[in-house]
Amino acid sequence: MIFLDNAATTKMYDEINKEISKYNSEYYYNPSSLYSQSLNISNAINNARAVIANFLGANGGEITFTSGATEGNNIIINGVITNRKNAEYIFSMGEHPSVYNKAKDLAAKGYKVNFVNLNKNGTVDVDHLRSLVNQNTVFVSCMHVSNETGVINNIKQIVSVVKAINPKTLVHSDGVQAVGKIYANVKDLGVDFYTISAHKMHGPKGVGAIYVKSGINLKPLVFGGSQENSLRPGTENVAGIMGFKMAAEMIGKQKEANYKKVEELNYTFTKKVENIKDLQINSLKEVSSPYIISISIKGIRGEILLHMLEEKDILINTGSACSSKTGDNRILSAMGIPLNYVKGSVRISFSELNTLKEVEKAADEFVKQANALKLKM
Ligand code: PMP
Repeated sequence: MIFLDNAATTKMYDEINKEISKYNSEYYYNPSSLYSQSLNISNAINNARAVIANFLGANGGEITFTSGATEGNNIIINGVITNRKNAEYIFSMGEHPSVYNKAKDLAAKGYKVNFVNLNKNGTVDVDHLRSLVNQNTVFVSCMHVSNETGVINNIKQIVSVVKAINPKTLVHSDGVQAVGKIYANVKDLGVDFYTISAHKMHGPKGVGAIYVKSGINLKPLVFGGSQENSLRPGTENVAGIMGFKMAAEMIGKQKEANYKKVEELNYTFTKKVENIKDLQINSLKEVSSPYIISISIKGIRGEILLHMLEEKDILINTGSACSSKTGDNRILSAMGIPLNYVKGSVRISFSELNTLKEVEKAADEFVKQANALKLKM
């Protein structure tokens, strides 16, 4: 099987499996109990916190473990909501559903929510953003790397544009598809909040973290005990957190080498498929992470191509779940891509665990199946 859906999830590193099972079978104590075994676990969690903090360029106290990025994004957005009259919130049109649908919910509840347009290349339209920020803007959310297209937003610039107009506005970036892949240092980016998820970087599913800049107090989404400073109460996912820590340590050491390898995989795949008739690459090299390629082919259906490749043991994606029913895709449409191209969209996403040989094979098969499909449609 050739797995080219690494933006959906990644294979957990084998070493992590061993680490995780240790915490489920041997060191299974509740970190909040008072005996020394529990204290050791509690210390191990704080050590993992320090590792994740270092990975992001943050301080230990600024990291809160969550059940993943969906929860992380919801904790952050929920935490900044205020009853202050005239408060405004801004979200980019390119956000993951865990941000976008929360924004829609706020709008439905009567909060003043604005959405920022995307440029044709998929980046956030910074001029539009500038025109929306004002003295009432409480919060802005723009993702770092798009899970749909791999397009990278210039978060540092976005933060400075927002703060120049209103220094009190809090800026969040969803860094799920950025960390462990491209440079992502929260202090350098200047963000107030940042979200990450372990399973997108060869760690376990069901664990993630948020960076909350020190000095910012968020009200919790759920209430309970004092775990994670009461911001994310509930008994910690100890095994998951330990696996997450290990993934950060492992990926931290090989990030540059991985990037180079994935660049080569991306180049190889792109070169082989780019001459398919009516094909458009939506992830322009100049603005995109090499880990994700979004491709649209006029006149076909992406999900049919997906299943034809699945028959050949090659796994790709059509993009996010929000596009599966209608064939529409909110993000590609926001980039101005016509519907007859959007419907024929697929997403190929790599990891350093892919080999050049399998990517060549997948690309050859992609060309064959796409051409066959075009003849049928
Ligand atoms: N944000 C982005 C950009 C993502 O790609 C994903 C995963 N598809 C999420 C958030 C949600 O992450 P999780 O699966 O950890 O909830």
